[in-house]
Amino acid sequence: TDAYLKAMEAARGLNAYVAETPEKAREMAAASDARIATGEARPLEGIPLGIKDLFCTEGVHSQAGSHVLDGFKPTYESTVTANLWADGAVMLGKLNMDEFAMGSSNETSYYGPVISPWRSNANNADLVPGGSSGGSAAAVAARLCAGATATDTGGSIRQPAAFTGTVGIKPTYGRCSRWGTVAFASSLDQAGPIARDVRDAAIMLKSMASVDPKDTTSVDIEVPDYEAAIGKSIKGMRIGIPKEYRIDGMPAEIEEMWQKGAAWLKDAGAELVDISLPHTKYALPAYYIVAPAEASSNLARYDGVRYGLRVDGDDIVDMYEKSRSAGFGAEVKRRVLIGTYVLSAGYYDAYYLRAQKVRTLIKRDFETVFADGIDTILTPATPSAAFGVAAMSTASPIEMYLNDVFTVTVNMAGLPGIAVPAGLNAEGLPLGLQLIGRPFDESTLFQAAKVVE
Ligand code: GLN
Repeated sequence: TDAYLKAMEAARGLNAYVAETPEKAREMAAASDARIATGEARPLEGIPLGIKDLFCTEGVHSQAGSHVLDGFKPTYESTVTANLWADGAVMLGKLNMDEFAMGSSNETSYYGPVISPWRSNANNADLVPGGSSGGSAAAVAARLCAGATATDTGGSIRQPAAFTGTVGIKPTYGRCSRWGTVAFASSLDQAGPIARDVRDAAIMLKSMASVDPKDTTSVDIEVPDYEAAIGKSIKGMRIGIPKEYRIDGMPAEIEEMWQKGAAWLKDAGAELVDISLPHTKYALPAYYIVAPAEASSNLARYDGVRYGLRVDGDDIVDMYEKSRSAGFGAEVKRRVLIGTYVLSAGYYDAYYLRAQKVRTLIKRDFETVFADGIDTILTPATPSAAFGVAAMSTASPIEMYLNDVFTVTVNMAGLPGIAVPAGLNAEGLPLGLQLIGRPFDESTLFQAAKVVE
C-alpha cells in the first residue's frame, strides 16, 4: 500500500485519481496485516485497489466526474465496493472518469482529461486512455493500483482496457449489484473490473459479483470460481467470427490482430465458425437513443435541492435552471436534450419504442447463434488504437460515438464481454480483442481470454 501511495504521488501528472485516500488505505492495510498475522486472511486481503468515482464510497468523494455532485460524500457504500472490502481489499482512492460515464476519451470529466501512460513510438503526443473508465485503465496500466473497479454502459470497461493493454470484463447484466453506483442508463449499466491480466480480473469479479436485495435486477445465481476456468483447455470450443463486425474503413492493423487472435485460438484446439449477427449495424444508433433516454430520466434528480451543487436563483425554478446549467458539462447536456426529445409524446413511438424493438432483434441474433452451439464470439474490441488527447475539440460527437461500434451490442443484449490485450501495433500501442459469451457464462470468456493473453 505504501509503495502504491508513493507511485500515485509521483504520477499525479496523469490525472488518474480525483481523490487519494492515504489515511483510509493505511488503516485498511494495517487491519489486513493483522489478519494475515493471525492466519485469518480473506481472498483479497491487503490488495490495494482504485475505485471509479461512479461508485458511492461512504464518507469519501463520489462525484461521478461531475461538478453537479460538488462536495457529495455519501453516507452509504455501494454493494460492489462493500463486497471488495468484505474480502479484505484496500482502497487507495477514487478514479477519474467521463462525466456520468458519458464519453469514450475521459475528456468530458469535470476534472480534466486522464493521460495514458502509453506513448506512440511515432511521436511524443499525449494519448487518451479511453473512457469512460479512463482513470481506472490508466491507473492499472501505470501500476498506480493492483486493480480497479469500472463500469460499462456501452463499452466503458472494454474500450479503455483495449487502449491501455489491460484486461476488462463487463459481466452479464444482473451479475453485479448496481446499488450505490451512480446511474447512467439503468438497463445497460454493469460494474466490472479492469486488471493487469485475465487471472486478476477473474479474482476481482468473483468478489464484486453478488445478488442483492437492494437491486432487483441483480440475479440470484451462483458465482462460480472464475479462476478455476483459467488454464483449462479450449479444445473443441466453438468460437463464432461474426461477418458484420468487418466494417467499412476498418484499419488493416485491426483486421490483422483479429485474424491473429483467431489463429491462436484455433492452434489451441478451438473450432472457428463463420456466423452472422444481421442486426449489428443498428446497435449503435439504437444505443444512442436508449442510453440518453434513460440518462435524461436518471439525471432529473440533480436539481440543486438533494445533492451537491446549488446556484441560488430568484425562485425555485430559476434555482433548478442555474444549478443544472452550471453543474452539467456539454456532453451531459447533449444527452439530456436527446433523451427528453426521444421520450417526448410526439416522438416516443418513432424513436424510443423503435430503438427498444431493435434491441430485441439484436438480442435474438445472439440467442440464435448460441442456440446453434457457439460458445463464444471473437471480435475486435475497438475500431482503432488509442488516439490523441484533445479529440473532443477536433472530433464531432458522432465520430466519438463510433468508438463504441463493437461494444454496445453486448450491453443491448445484456451479455458478458471481455477485452483482452492482443499485442501492439506498428506504433507500439496496444490493441485489444473482445470475447462475447452466453448469459452468466463469464467462465468461458476467462478460459478463452487466457489463450489470447
Ligand atoms: N462511450 C459510450 C457512451 O458515451 C459508453 C459509455 C459507457 O459505457 N459508460 O455512452
